[in-house]
Amino acid sequence: MTAAGLASMLGPTGLEITLIESEAIGVVGVGEATLPHIKNFNDTIGVNEAEFMAATSATFKLGIEFVNWGRKGDSYIHPFGEFGLPNAGVAFHQYWRKFAGQPGVGALDEYSLPVIASRMGKFQPPSEDPRSVMSTYRYAYQFDALQYAPFMRSHAEARGVTRMEGKVVDVALEPESGRVSALTMDDGRIVEGDLFVDCTGFFGLLIEKALSAGYDDWSEWLPADRAVAVPCESAGPLLPYTRATAHEAGWSWRIPLQHRTGNGHVYSSQFLSDDAACDTLLGGLEGERLADPRFLRFVTGKRRKLWSRNVVAIGLSGGFLEPLESTSIYLIQEGITKLLELFPADQDYDIEVAEYNRWMDLQFERVRDFLILHYHATERDDSDFWNHMRTMTVPDSLAERLELFTAHGHVSAYDHGLFLVPSWVAVLIGQRVLPSSVDDRVSGQADAEVLRHLAGLKGHMEKAAGSMEDHAAYLARNNMMRAAA
Ligand SMILES: Cc1cc2nc3c(=O)[nH]c(=O)nc-3n(C[C@H](O)[C@H](O)[C@H](O)COP(=O)(O)OP(=O)(O)OC[C@H]3O[C@@H](n4cnc5c(N)ncnc54)[C@H](O)[C@@H]3O)c2cc1C
Repeated sequence: MTAAGLASMLGPTGLEITLIESEAIGVVGVGEATLPHIKNFNDTIGVNEAEFMAATSATFKLGIEFVNWGRKGDSYIHPFGEFGLPNAGVAFHQYWRKFAGQPGVGALDEYSLPVIASRMGKFQPPSEDPRSVMSTYRYAYQFDALQYAPFMRSHAEARGVTRMEGKVVDVALEPESGRVSALTMDDGRIVEGDLFVDCTGFFGLLIEKALSAGYDDWSEWLPADRAVAVPCESAGPLLPYTRATAHEAGWSWRIPLQHRTGNGHVYSSQFLSDDAACDTLLGGLEGERLADPRFLRFVTGKRRKLWSRNVVAIGLSGGFLEPLESTSIYLIQEGITKLLELFPADQDYDIEVAEYNRWMDLQFERVRDFLILHYHATERDDSDFWNHMRTMTVPDSLAERLELFTAHGHVSAYDHGLFLVPSWVAVLIGQRVLPSSVDDRVSGQADAEVLRHLAGLKGHMEKAAGSMEDHAAYLARNNMMRAAA
């Protein structure tokens, strides 16, 4: 992604880009669910959607279903879109809150078109007409990570990137500045460069092994430190959403792809053994398993400096936050976009480095807070893990947001980045955090009028979702299915 992004945007300036990859090491091979921002990235670098979908066995994604989070048995969808329609400048959930629990009002997510379409297994690209209810959502993709990496590699090579196969075995530093001057490959080749982007995954070969950037460990709030992953055969209709089901000491993902379903269980080794985690995962598979379970270890957090000297860490080399909200690929994109914006014109770029790190720290921290919310805003008390997560002290930045919401239902909007107000509302209300009172402006409207509006809206959305195409049929009709091998 980084090579493709830099080549597409900076290639015309004459910049020479070398991509080093090792087939012997390979890619991590997980990371299949994304956020809608990836469509902007693809569009910007000139990726054709149908070609990309077919090459990576991709499906469309309208949101994430969370099962068993607030309480066992609960289910809600965090949609990529709005709740209701904008009403006199007051957020829709304020109206819903006033009448929640009354006959016929139903759950908040029944007022979200992408949720209704998800539950029906439907998909259609959104409308560009802002007056249409069909414009109230966006979409992302679910794809095969092992097919995505070579697709991006080809895209980069077609835009002038030189790819080198082999293993980097040594990193040379300039004695005075401490900057990386060259890499030595296992066959003795030397690769010199001005700026190095460390995309070596969990190895952090340049940023940590060579430059010792340091790591902010966030496992105090996000103690999951392991995952076990296994693909299985698909069963049932091709759903346009990812599912995240909470378990005793973590959660499992289910990601529907064209040719298989991706599954994994993220858990805390402090509270659950590897065997128990694997049993839970295998016990929940919907189809025949297609490979042996694979275990992965990680420490939640981020590098203290994501850009240090002349090395920028993008991807897992920069840090890792569990994939509960599919944020890692988004953070990669943010890293690329910010690097492009601040790309050094000469050798003196300390101020750009400082700005990059400030910006990326903020992005990571916001994602961190949103993830903690899922674990903390729960009534679950059925395991030591949930008791710990429910009662722990959360970062001040999250505690303040929670207090603001529980008072009068307000969510302060970030000026940029993740997550937008409807996402916070989806998780808070989906996990039973209800404001004790509503925005005063809601009281100014007659109850009967608001109730009529709610009922009309629900019906309107159901009708719109019903008119959308079946997800699998849409893929087939638009030549987005990968040809069988
Ligand atoms: C359990 C799990 C689930 C995840 N799920 C999601 C998800 O649903 N959504 C999401 O957005 N993200 C997810 N992620 C994160 C996602 O997998 C990564 O962000 C993404 O795959 C990018 O990885 P990477 O390129 O940083 O590292 P890798 O895929 O590990 O790539 C590292 C590259 O560096 C090369 N390399 C390493 N060392 C050397 C060397 N010495 N010499 C030469 N080359 C070298 C390798 O060959 C490889 O090409 C998940 C991660 C985990 C662990």
